[in-house]
Amino acid sequence: MNLILLGPPGAGKGTQAKRLEGSFGLVQISTGDMLRAEVKAGSPIGLEARAIMERGDLVPDAIITAMLANRVGQADAANGFILDGFPRTVPQAEALDRMLAEKGIRLDHVIELKVDDAALVGRISGRYTCVQCGAGYHDTFKTPKTIGVCDNCGGAEFSRRADDKAETVAARLAAYHRQTSPLLPFYGAQGKLSAVDGMAAMDIVFAALSSIVKP
Ligand code: AMP
Repeated sequence: MNLILLGPPGAGKGTQAKRLEGSFGLVQISTGDMLRAEVKAGSPIGLEARAIMERGDLVPDAIITAMLANRVGQADAANGFILDGFPRTVPQAEALDRMLAEKGIRLDHVIELKVDDAALVGRISGRYTCVQCGAGYHDTFKTPKTIGVCDNCGGAEFSRRADDKAETVAARLAAYHRQTSPLLPFYGAQGKLSAVDGMAAMDIVFAALSSIVKP
């Protein structure tokens, strides 16, 4: 089973991808996570991407597509993957179609998480993660049971993404509407698109996604 989760920043793609990964034995492929790892490592891709990401713009298609082609070909993706944050432009989607056709891989579903823009700024600007295990939290919607201690691993160090500042979120939302939303008709025309209400509670969103993903 190979899926794409589509939706604006803050729609819950990463959170839901992690849950689907655990329940269905799929691997989450997040181009944002991959880029953040490149930035942290100070690699040539990271050096090029850093300022672009901090502005809230999209990294050039050629860089992203090459990175993704490499990742999809790795062994752990053979049982199925969830693309989170890719594709983000029509040229990326076209490149993905070509890449999957060459490898004989089928794309089963593209699922849009629908969320009101007004809710996104609050969702994004309060989020943070455990440095040790990557568990996600939110100042208002999901605090750890003991403040300052990760529920999952007991870690006490947390970090916030550089691009989750309110100023940058507006640019990221604009990029979504301008460059990514044309993917909805693109995949609609392929008969692969379904939508889930991303404003619902996390468990309800997960149940809706599961009912689409279940064979
Ligand atoms: P995300 O973690 O998916 O919100 O991505 C964080 C940032 O990484 C985005 O705002 C972009 O600057 C960059 N990025 C991630 N995925 C892509 C992509 N598919 N195409 C272009 N830029 C991307």
